Amino acid sequence: MGGVHHFPVTIVELTDDDGVTGYGECAPSSRYQENVEGGLDFFSLLDARQLSFDEVASSMDHVERLAPGQFAAKGALNMALLDGAARRTGKPLHDFLGLTFQDKHYVTSFSIGIDRSEVIREKTLAARDYPILKLKVGVSEDKANFTALREAAPGKRVRLDANEGWKTKEQALEMIEWFAKDSQVEFIEQPMPATSAPGDLAWLKQRSPLPLFADESYRSASDLAACVDAFHGVCVKLSKAGGVSRAVDALKLARGAGLKTMLGCMIETSVLISAAAHLAALTDHLDLDGNLLITNDPFRGVTAKNGVLSFAEAAEPFGLRVKAKDVK
Ligand code: MG
Repeated sequence: MGGVHHFPVTIVELTDDDGVTGYGECAPSSRYQENVEGGLDFFSLLDARQLSFDEVASSMDHVERLAPGQFAAKGALNMALLDGAARRTGKPLHDFLGLTFQDKHYVTSFSIGIDRSEVIREKTLAARDYPILKLKVGVSEDKANFTALREAAPGKRVRLDANEGWKTKEQALEMIEWFAKDSQVEFIEQPMPATSAPGDLAWLKQRSPLPLFADESYRSASDLAACVDAFHGVCVKLSKAGGVSRAVDALKLARGAGLKTMLGCMIETSVLISAAAHLAALTDHLDLDGNLLITNDPFRGVTAKNGVLSFAEAAEPFGLRVKAKDVK
C-alpha cells in the first residue's frame, strides 16, 4: 500500500571503438521472476566482441543464445545496441526504425497507485496538470478509491488497471459494470489473472461494457492468439517484451490482428521511457509515466509536461535522445 519507495534498475552502456555510446536500461519485474541480480549475472556472460552497432540482429543472436528468459536484461542490450546504431547513422531512434514521431502530440496517462482513499485524493489533486489518470484497482477498496479520485477530479478521463486483481469472471464483470457508469472511464487493463481459463476471459470480453486491455496476458507477440478472443487491446512494455525490437513486433502484430495498442512501463528512468516514446506512432494509448514517479532520474530525454511527450528539450539529437545528467 504505497510502501515501496525503492526500485532498483541497471543501466547498460555500450561504447564502440569510435567512442559512440549506446544506453539501455534493465528494469526487471518480480511478476516475471526477474531481478537486478539475475540481470547482472546475465550481463557477465556477454562477449563484447560479439556485439556491434553495425550488426544489431547478429548481436542479438549472441545475446539470445546466452541463457533463456532474462527479458529485461536482453531488452536493455537491444536498446543500447539500437541507440548506438541510430547514433552512428545520425538519426533519432524512431527515424532509424522507420517510424514517425510527432512532437507534443502524444499524451501519457499519470498513474495513481493503490492507497488509502485520503492519499488517493491528495495524489489526484497533485496530478491536476495531467489530463488522463490511470487508477490502480483490483482490491476491496476499489469503489471508495475511485470515489475519492472523482471528488478530486470530477470529469477527468480515467483508465483503470486491475493488475489481475479480480479473481472470478463474475466479480470482474460486476466491477467493470460499476465503473462503466462513469462516462469518462475509458478502458480497463488486465481485470483477471493471466492464468485464468481462456473461456472465462472470453466470457468477460463478450459482456464487458468497457474495452479490456491485456497486460500480464500479453508479454510478447507469441501471446497474440490467446489475446484476440479475450481482449480488445494489448499493453506492451519494453521491459517485459525484451526490448525495442520485440516491442515493435508485439505492437505491429496486435494491430494487424485488429487489437488496440498501448505502451506501458515499469518504474523506469528516462532511458526506458524515451525508448518507448519513439514507438508512440504504433499505439492508440500511452502510459509512460515511469520517470515521472521517481526523484533521482540520472538521465534527461523525453519530457511529459502536462502529460504531453516532447523531445524539444532533449540535449542529444540522435538515438534514444537521452543524455546522462552530469554530462554537459
Ligand atoms: Mg498493467
